[in-house]
Amino acid sequence: MNEHFWNTDIKFLQGIGPKRAEILKNEVNILTFEDLLYYFPYKYIDKTKFHKISEVHSEMPYIQIRGEILRFRTEGEGKKERLIATFGDETGIIELVWFKGIKIIKQLYKINEIYIIFGKPNEFNGNINIPHPEVEEISKNQENKENLSLQPAYNTTEKMKNFSITSKTIAKWQLFLRQYIEKNIFETLPEYLIQNLKLISLKEALLNIHFPANFEMLQKSEYRLKFEELFYIQLKILRQKTHRSKQIRGFVFSKIGEIFNTFFHTHLPFELTEAQKKVLKEIRKDVGSGKQMNRLLQGDVGSGKTLVALMSCLMALDNGFQAAIMAPTEILALQHFATIQKFLGEMPVKIGLLTGSTTKKERRIIFEELESGNLNILVGTHALIEESVAFKNLGIVVIDEQHRFGVAQRAALWKKNEGTPPHIIVMTATPIPRTLAMTLYGDLDISVIDQLPPGRKPIKTVHYFDIHRLRAFEFIRKQIEAGNQAYVVYPLIKESEKLDYKNLEEGYENVLKAFPPPKYSISIVHGQMKAAGKDIEMQKFISGKSQILVATTVIEVGVDVPNANVMLIESAERFGLSQLHQLRGRVGRGAEQSFCILMTSVKLGSDTRKRMEMMVQSSNGFEISEMDLKLRGPGDLEGTQQSGMPMQFKLANLAKDGQILQQARDIASQVLDSDPDFSKNSENFLLKKQLEKLFSHKTEWGKIG
Ligand code: ADP
Ligand code: MG
Repeated sequence: MNEHFWNTDIKFLQGIGPKRAEILKNEVNILTFEDLLYYFPYKYIDKTKFHKISEVHSEMPYIQIRGEILRFRTEGEGKKERLIATFGDETGIIELVWFKGIKIIKQLYKINEIYIIFGKPNEFNGNINIPHPEVEEISKNQENKENLSLQPAYNTTEKMKNFSITSKTIAKWQLFLRQYIEKNIFETLPEYLIQNLKLISLKEALLNIHFPANFEMLQKSEYRLKFEELFYIQLKILRQKTHRSKQIRGFVFSKIGEIFNTFFHTHLPFELTEAQKKVLKEIRKDVGSGKQMNRLLQGDVGSGKTLVALMSCLMALDNGFQAAIMAPTEILALQHFATIQKFLGEMPVKIGLLTGSTTKKERRIIFEELESGNLNILVGTHALIEESVAFKNLGIVVIDEQHRFGVAQRAALWKKNEGTPPHIIVMTATPIPRTLAMTLYGDLDISVIDQLPPGRKPIKTVHYFDIHRLRAFEFIRKQIEAGNQAYVVYPLIKESEKLDYKNLEEGYENVLKAFPPPKYSISIVHGQMKAAGKDIEMQKFISGKSQILVATTVIEVGVDVPNANVMLIESAERFGLSQLHQLRGRVGRGAEQSFCILMTSVKLGSDTRKRMEMMVQSSNGFEISEMDLKLRGPGDLEGTQQSGMPMQFKLANLAKDGQILQQARDIASQVLDSDPDFSKNSENFLLKKQLEKLFSHKTEWGKIG
């Protein structure tokens, strides 16, 4: 690419000037010729085919019909006046409607002449019409047909439109730029890749992405550009991964020793699932290899990740190292601490708990024992990564529900040792779609627990409208009478914390009314409570002293109370799919049949309705996360914002382009295998140059474990 030319300020393009350049910059981040060239259409308007009036319905996108205007009439008066044309072809009639420019339209178009109209069908009072269609005479249309077959449509904002920058304006500018492509665009992929993969050249792709010669060329252009986008990201990620494994040595846990074996043979209360065994083997292999492990542990809610984490820590202990487990909330850290204590029983393993509410005195003791090596496993929250926390020899770190932690926090853990970094396992709350994992965690090895412990009954999920809340309460009452417990959860979204708190308070009052003391006891936990208060309320519920826990989403992650078998989620429409699944995963942990009640208002958008249906139908976290990705797009999924990884691509879409992504990753990996430094094959120099261009200014998001 001729950098000099393409870096030209956009204001110098014919017809733009400083004022519109300012708008382009602020509204859509177009600063240079290159930015404009890479501002791709979001759709194409198909003028290659004609529809029959009899087949038109209101769900159709823009369509084209050939026919004649049979008559005009006007309806309404003053501002409400509109012109209606009855338009017919051999299959039927449809109405065309104009609210503006009535006089001109009437003069312009003649009755009983053949026209081609183009527009978006609409439904109004049960009739289908087309408002403000484009109308073309047949002769003109035939002339233009060749190059107008697929018209690009560009996104514009209100502000842009105010400055007369419409989709058509942008198309016009693209036409100007088009003439410079031939001379000023240079290939960005090595020739051998283009040959082997049968890609079209960058030039052809850029020409056809804006003005496709036909459908086939459009597809080829999209493919080429998507591949390139994904390929360079994978190349970047995989290169980092190979560099890291070459440069950084890991601790060798050479043996499985007494601690692990004692636990396995005499303390483990149940058989490990095959999936847990498989994952432990993968971890065992990593930590014995001499390379530093960076592993993502995926598994559905309740699949038993905690136990795998604990047993991995025991491997470290057996080899004279310490271990740390970090959780995103205090409640969860507490629970891990208690769980691990219970699992280990009277085994000679010293466990510590460090959170924001650990007292100064307790801290001092913990710090001393950490440095002397007396303390074997430290469980905690963010408090673990403070600088003052120093280990004697930290061998392994487990980060639970890792999407809650930002990159910087993970990187800080990495540096807990001088010299050799600890082995790292990150665990996710909810499965991540494969494509997302490949990008978001592309530099990690992935283990999957794809099996639940035996004997779990699938949770029955129902969707209730909130007008039927009392019925849901009745149901809960029966469950409580049978000795079970229930959660009632309210949304908590940062922006409206006050409002949510009000919802929670009102909800709590409602629950109290329906379940009055002293017959019932109700716990309440929310984000504005002090840690000690939360702890008391949680303990009441965990020990079974209270039958209902009213909470905000602070309980979303990890909490494990097997006796609770009903999860009632209020305002379920305000949660994403993954979050709903995660919440639902709080029940279904005991022997009893469990239930999840999704409560929403009656008025629901179609996406929300789909989410509720999906939840009712599926209890598979992997399925649900794929669906979530499709509905919300990758940019909105939890964890992607903090990741710093580019999730919004120009063309590629992680929800749809899984195959291209896989291919891009495979090819990137092959290239790196054969020429890791881009020095053997002269054509690969281009790869190095492109990587520098694409990523030099971005933050170092990859340097984490
Ligand atoms: P998650 O993967 O969601 O973190 P947990 O680790 O909290 O799941 O495990 C869920 C529950 O399943 C816990 O009560 C745990 O003790 C239990 N569990 C774990 N592994 C097994 C197993 N192999 N057999 C039976 N129960 C198990
Ligand atoms: Mg867990």
